[in-house]
Amino acid sequence: MAEKAKEGKKKHVNKPTSKKYSHYASGKSTHKHCPKCGPGVFLAQHKDRQACGKCGYTEFARK
Ligand SMILES: [Zn+2]
Repeated sequence: MAEKAKEGKKKHVNKPTSKKYSHYASGKSTHKHCPKCGPGVFLAQHKDRQACGKCGYTEFARK
């Protein structure tokens, strides 16, 4: 009866989450990184501005 438990273990095929990660790594994200803190620190999205939570840098969105 141990065979039933074995059947439940299936090989992991391509995870759909990996696609999301590649998109993030491609740098096409709408999130801009802080010019002061450099890449890795992204600006928080606000209604009409982007702000860095680390150094306080704020960038206002203009149209
Ligand atoms: Zn910053």
